[in-house]
Amino acid sequence: MSEALRDQFGRQIEYLRISVTDKCNFRCVYCMPLEGLPWLPKHEVLSYEEIAEVVRQLAPLGLRRLRVTGGEPTIRPHLERLISMLRDVPGIEDIALSTNGVRLPEMAVSLRSAGLDRVNMSADSLRKDRIEAIARRRLDFDPVASAAAAQAAELGPIKINMVVMRGINDDEIEDFARLTVAHPWHVRFIELMPVGGMRDLTWDHVVPSREVLDRVAQLGALAPDEGPARGNGPASYYRLSGALGTVGVITPMTHSYCASCNRVRLTADGRLRTCLYGDHEVNLRDALRAGHPLEPLFVRALAEKPKEHRLLQLHVGGLRALSQVGG
Ligand code: SAM
Ligand code: SF4
Repeated sequence: MSEALRDQFGRQIEYLRISVTDKCNFRCVYCMPLEGLPWLPKHEVLSYEEIAEVVRQLAPLGLRRLRVTGGEPTIRPHLERLISMLRDVPGIEDIALSTNGVRLPEMAVSLRSAGLDRVNMSADSLRKDRIEAIARRRLDFDPVASAAAAQAAELGPIKINMVVMRGINDDEIEDFARLTVAHPWHVRFIELMPVGGMRDLTWDHVVPSREVLDRVAQLGALAPDEGPARGNGPASYYRLSGALGTVGVITPMTHSYCASCNRVRLTADGRLRTCLYGDHEVNLRDALRAGHPLEPLFVRALAEKPKEHRLLQLHVGGLRALSQVGG
């Protein structure tokens, strides 16, 4: 494998998260202010051709896995077109999508046909009134039906991400864990992070993953598990005895997983970010539009990839929302 995508700490970068839009059809309380954000003007957003070109230039350097995200990627028109362009890039082994899931029933089959491998879906509640209160949108959305649609379209292993918030949805931890008994789904409980746009949430809303696991263990014997075969992100997995799926925890607030970080991010406006939480970004778009090769910029970005983020020392606010940086 090429050394070009190895950073100064020896981490081989093989995973790129691609934000295709900064916009969203939800306004999740932990992610986006109700009034929205200062959206990027259209001409600043990379075209599908430009995104595919970035991937084409990174693939020979060792890039293997892609995740298409946002904002909400399914609201960008003709997303299938981008997926099939990415599928055609030699060397790319895995293409995943992160979505709030609301459009999966109508889009899952066409996304699969275009070459998408799998889906991560966000779901913070299974109750209609609460889904609407957290997303701050009137919605006809059943997360279980959306996950089932993705599974029927063979977009597995299906991962369902729940951001746990004390006093808001933490009483549904057990209901989410029970989903994994009957379905081959992987429910991951995410610790709430203090990023931008979280005006009504404080550190008191953070539920440590240790507490989540203790509560899941009340449902039955819980053993460590390797988790879903594909992907090697920051989650640790467990399985309830006899369950078809697993539960996982993602612990940005109580643990640092930076030492094994193998990912970089491409923002919707064509900046390569080497750490979700820092301000390290390199503008690829101008070089791309000027027809210059991107490799020197990749190398520079990786040289600047920080050893670890400083999230554990930060307080609420101050950082950009995950929707803006391709969370
Ligand atoms: N719109 C898609 C979705 O919701 O899955 C993709 C983009 S969203 C920014 C990616 C992930 O970031 C989601 O799983 C969401 O729950 C998570 N996220 C956003 N803000 C967060 C926060 N403050 N703390 C923890 N997770 C957060
Ligand atoms: Fe939109 Fe995803 Fe952010 Fe919710 S978490 S507001 S669905 S980008």
